[in-house]
Amino acid sequence: MKVFELTRIRITIWYVLIVMTISAMFSFVIYQGVTKNIEASFRSAETRFANNGGARPLRKMADGNVVNDEVTREVLHGLFLEELDNSRESILIYLLIINLIIFILSSLASYYLAGKTLMPIEEIIQEQKRFIADASHELKTPLTSLKTSIEVSIRSGKLPKDIKKLFQYNLEDVDALGELIDKLLSLSSLESKKPVFDNLDIKEVINTAYRRVKYLSDKKNISVKITTKNYQLQGDASSLTELITILLDNGIKYCKLNGKVSLDVKPSKNHLIIAVKDDGIGINKKYLPNIFDRFYRIDSSRTYANRGINSTKSGFGLGLSMAKKIVENHKGSISVSSELTKGTTFIIKLPLKQ
Ligand code: ADP
Repeated sequence: MKVFELTRIRITIWYVLIVMTISAMFSFVIYQGVTKNIEASFRSAETRFANNGGARPLRKMADGNVVNDEVTREVLHGLFLEELDNSRESILIYLLIINLIIFILSSLASYYLAGKTLMPIEEIIQEQKRFIADASHELKTPLTSLKTSIEVSIRSGKLPKDIKKLFQYNLEDVDALGELIDKLLSLSSLESKKPVFDNLDIKEVINTAYRRVKYLSDKKNISVKITTKNYQLQGDASSLTELITILLDNGIKYCKLNGKVSLDVKPSKNHLIIAVKDDGIGINKKYLPNIFDRFYRIDSSRTYANRGINSTKSGFGLGLSMAKKIVENHKGSISVSSELTKGTTFIIKLPLKQ
């Protein structure tokens, strides 16, 4: 799973950073301590030498040769400095090698540990996803029979008018529940199944999506203008149709009556750029970073008010998170720009070849 791999790498970087900071601090202390020790030893040797011969610069040796202690001391001092530099250099090299080994070992160990730490969390999340998918699936059957019973009751002529109205509301709620279950099932299949890529014609995908939302645009008298050619790309036909449906549906849903929605497709280098624009209610800038989150709805009353149809159904805040997942599965990107009361534009960038 991509997000877990990224988190694992991030944790590894943190672990390695901590280990390397400690290691660098120790190395610094060791370097200072050892070089100071060597320096002190050399200096005491030098002092001892000075105390012994420093007072007698010229000395006659037993064999008759004359030794200049002053010169010998200078030579010794030069040698001492040279030795000190050499020792410092070799300590530095040792410490660098040790740090390099620590870096490699700690990177490997940290990556392994980060994986181990994240594994139970990943398992719990997978388990939750399986539970949502299974529960949604299990709910479908009783919901279908409930819907049938309500429909049969409504059609029977024996019920008083107000009870029939109540059943009508029940039916709408059951439909909304059915829609939520379908969305949860599609979301879990988007997250668990690998998309199947085929050669597609984007115009056909868009036309299929448009047919799905036409009843809503007709109801609100919204003009939907589609500009595209028969661009070919590789992708999963059903999920791309879902993606376009979500964006057109939102555009229409959040448009005022008699508003305008447009969809433009343009190629750009190796990508296809799809822009879905509406002149609807727009989104406040502060909400924009959250709108792709699961179950995020800015204000459900906006949805009720803007569906423009006599329905209790509101959005579930799942559409855009599904759209994002579909785009990610196609290695593309989705972005949004919006101005309150002026309208919203979603831009999708899809690679032409996978
Ligand atoms: P919903 O099913 O509630 O529409 P979405 O995930 O599709 O859920 O959208 C999340 C929220 O983003 C919506 O509640 C809505 O407030 C806002 N939104 C999405 N598309 C538009 C749009 N075209 N214009 C204005 N607001 C939008």
